[in-house]
Amino acid sequence: MEISCTKEESKIFEKIGAVASEMRLSCFLIGGFVRDKLLERPTKDIDIVCTGDGIALAHAVAKAISPKLKVNFFKTFGTAQFRYHELDIEFVGARKESYSSHSRKPDVTEGTIEDDQKRRDLSINALAISLNKEDYGKLIDPFGGIEDLKNKIIRTPLEPGITFSDDPLRMMRAIRFATQLGFTITDEVFEAIRSHKERIRIISQERITDELNKIMLTPKPSVGFDLLYRSGLLKEFFPQLTDLVGVDYIEGKGHKDNFYHTLQVVDNVAAQSNDLWLRWAALLHDIGKPATKKFEEGHGWTFHGHEVVGERMTPKIFRQLKLPQHEKMKYVAKLVALHLRPISLTKEDITDSAMRRLLFDAGEDLEDLMILCESDITSKNKLKVKRYLENFELVKERLKIVEEKDKIRNWQPPITGEAIMELFGLPPSREVGTLKTAVREAILDGVIPNSYDAAYEFMMMQKANELGIRALK
Ligand code: ATP
Ligand code: MG
Repeated sequence: MEISCTKEESKIFEKIGAVASEMRLSCFLIGGFVRDKLLERPTKDIDIVCTGDGIALAHAVAKAISPKLKVNFFKTFGTAQFRYHELDIEFVGARKESYSSHSRKPDVTEGTIEDDQKRRDLSINALAISLNKEDYGKLIDPFGGIEDLKNKIIRTPLEPGITFSDDPLRMMRAIRFATQLGFTITDEVFEAIRSHKERIRIISQERITDELNKIMLTPKPSVGFDLLYRSGLLKEFFPQLTDLVGVDYIEGKGHKDNFYHTLQVVDNVAAQSNDLWLRWAALLHDIGKPATKKFEEGHGWTFHGHEVVGERMTPKIFRQLKLPQHEKMKYVAKLVALHLRPISLTKEDITDSAMRRLLFDAGEDLEDLMILCESDITSKNKLKVKRYLENFELVKERLKIVEEKDKIRNWQPPITGEAIMELFGLPPSREVGTLKTAVREAILDGVIPNSYDAAYEFMMMQKANELGIRALK
């Protein structure tokens, strides 16, 4: 098998080979770069492994390119890295790792290229290409990685129980690569993940979530989440999501399996948007359903208020998964809270004021909310989906018309809290907030026009009424 390199890549590989030869080291391209080249996927990260001192090799190569080239050294990982044009090149000495059951940290010693390949996570990630004079360009594949690439198989270099027990993050990586590449995990490997699932607890949540986000950014995240669920890994770190699994029946009536429905919604969103956080909103949109589930006699299953419960659960889940705590979390919580609103506008007799309210509440996130809501229309009944989607189009049209007329998105009411304090000589207080909300609601309801004068008059009336009521008391 040949790999095709750019001019820059060939140039730097020859240089690395020549410098290593002068230093009497053997060196190899290894891992993700080799895999991705063979799969013709774009790749910029190059890993070089050499027998002996990888850091010294990095410095010598950098010096041979230019005395000014800066080399970064990562002490904890024993690696050194520099950039060459677009390429990110990382050097490491070949290692032999031995794990013992009483310690999480392996015993690391210098090793051969094969020792280094053995400690890799997957056969397809253990491929190496020689950069040495005597066999430059030769593929070194002791674990059948090429065969697995051809057959689209995820397999570990060693017995899977050993590979996963040594570093349980590899279970997440196996599922992530299966999802990203559309590969199949062998039964033996999948069984090993199932039996080692609890070991994932020794891995930091940040690293687990990195893999989760990579799954989330694939074209069909459902593939990865289904594997995570079926292997038992998902329940270890995200039980709120696996609580959505399953269907209950009462009086012969069942509800949707909310887990698989959710995965369908995530895939639907993924087909329309690459935004990671919109995909997270899809994953969490029904997360409040288990807590709100009820069977109502003569009516069936209900999940009243699940959007509010879901909104409240979002910060905790973000904290638990070590996802960002600020804007992104607020954005996801907001979409979860609003996810039923657009569809509720497909009913008949919807007033312009209901439209204005949604425009105001969604603001700049309206398009994303509409993608989420449209993606939420899933049913086995194709006719039903078609009818819903047609109604949904009508809502979109009407929202557009109302927005053009009233310019509600990014709208601020004509009177600010400061203006109210000044007008009525009030200190910052709840009363100011109440007046401000009353003005905003009156405008959104179409009771008064959207102008300062109307708002002023309205507040005077409110105040007068209030004083009148107080006098009567
Ligand atoms: P990507 O860059 O798309 O995440 P990658 O395979 O290049 O994929 P990196 O994290 O860049 O992943 O790691 C580079 C190489 O290091 C891998 O191809 C693999 O050989 C090895 N590797 C990474 N993480 C592990 C691990 N946890 N256990 C064993 N080997 C690993
Ligand atoms: Mg990489």
